[in-house]
Amino acid sequence: MDSLYLQHSLFPHNFCMIRVKQAHNGTRIGVYRNMATSFSCCAVGVSENSPLKGTENGSVFDDSAGSVTTFGTLLDAEITPETIDFFVSDAHGDPDCPSQGFSSVEQALSSLRQGKFVIVVRDENEEAEGSLVMAASQASPKNVAFMVKHGSGIVSVGMKGEDLERLNIPLMSPENEDDVSAPFFTVSVDAKYGTSSGVSASDRAKTILRISSPDSRAEDFRRPGLVFPLKYRNGGVLTRAGHTEASVDLVMLAGLHSVSVLSDIVDAEDGSVSSLTNLRKLASEHSIPIVTISDLIRYRRKREKLVERTSVSSLPTKWGLFEAYAYRSKLDGIEHIVLVKGNIDNGQDVLVRVHSECLTGDIFGSARCDCGNQLDLAMQIIEQAGRGVVVYLRGHEGRGIGLGHKLEAYNLQDQGHDTVEANLELGFAADARDYGIGAQMLRDIGVHTMRLMTNNPAKFTGLKGYGLAAVGRVPVMTPITEENKRYLETKRTKMGHIYGSDIQGPLISRDKNDIKG
Ligand SMILES: [Zn+2]
Repeated sequence: MDSLYLQHSLFPHNFCMIRVKQAHNGTRIGVYRNMATSFSCCAVGVSENSPLKGTENGSVFDDSAGSVTTFGTLLDAEITPETIDFFVSDAHGDPDCPSQGFSSVEQALSSLRQGKFVIVVRDENEEAEGSLVMAASQASPKNVAFMVKHGSGIVSVGMKGEDLERLNIPLMSPENEDDVSAPFFTVSVDAKYGTSSGVSASDRAKTILRISSPDSRAEDFRRPGLVFPLKYRNGGVLTRAGHTEASVDLVMLAGLHSVSVLSDIVDAEDGSVSSLTNLRKLASEHSIPIVTISDLIRYRRKREKLVERTSVSSLPTKWGLFEAYAYRSKLDGIEHIVLVKGNIDNGQDVLVRVHSECLTGDIFGSARCDCGNQLDLAMQIIEQAGRGVVVYLRGHEGRGIGLGHKLEAYNLQDQGHDTVEANLELGFAADARDYGIGAQMLRDIGVHTMRLMTNNPAKFTGLKGYGLAAVGRVPVMTPITEENKRYLETKRTKMGHIYGSDIQGPLISRDKNDIKG
């Protein structure tokens, strides 16, 4: 037996597609020694002709409501994982595998250092907007002319708040400060000296160079002008996955002064936003690396420690004694907690539950979801096993939409929407959570390989790529009740959650054998 993937014909399509991509790229992130496994997985996963349909995936939905507690079974996967170091080491070369068909972040940085352009797109979507980006300190009339020719005509400069303050360049509309979706436009400027109308490529290059100079002063500029500074959000793409943040991050990662120049690329014929196909054409004609913001996020997350351990204490609970580790996210200041049972030791084969905060379910015992039951069950299983970790991620209410919005979504559900539709109706992604912080805490605790206690395969993939490897998935089966039946069914049919497993074997016995004493 290799793994769940091979065994489970109903594994969701998108999960396997992700693995296809990774396998073809020869990625070394969360590497499995047996690459054939990945391919086999794909072959099974993408099959539309699976003979298994409906509830034949071992779901317990056929059980009478509320009457059964199923503990699931243990995955005794034989895959031997090879983990990479959390912070990338030279010994492993470059483990960053760009999305298929894109340049690596390293290639982009090399281009920027040579004073050349990079094309930045949000992701692999055909409609993903692309920007021409370079370091502002490398601007020249020729480069600006190129941006005007292929861009919208608007040439922007990405820069930090402190530099904008120094140059007395205020936001165009301060009311938008809380709106993360919109770029921070500031009052436009022209260099006051050595320029004429400000519109020529030569004038704009002078303005950009003046802005990027650490010696420039507020009185060096006319306002308004024809160069548009944009305010960079602190934290960069880890705070906001925007082109402004990506451009400044890239310039800084290249070791250059933290001011970028960027322009949205539009189609020369009809002025529409360039499709990815056209962006690729432009990139190949001019030998410009094209990178995705999502790859840049991965690149940064792997190198930067985003959590700090603030304190540790023992925590007796109704399930047993745990060690509690408090962490604070450097990105948003949110405090998270990790409960550790037993000796993590070499960090191999650790039972891990990554739990998203659900105040209503965890604390008040809400019957609208199964969160509280899953947490209780995970702690019991870990206590019985004598070794394991619960990562409790806060700020994840209602799959990341917040407590108030979650309650609003409940109202929509009462009107007939399911949990996924309700989130979408409110304008949120079906699942807005992020598990990168969780992965970093696991590495800090010393976990290397783990058996993840989850019914959610997305959670399973979301935790890879941080020097962690999941060697198995342990379903966390909680009672199905009248109240949560519909919620659980939505998670199964729309979010690919899996209840039950084809793999036989008791959960607890193996763990007990593993633990000495
Ligand atoms: Zn919940």
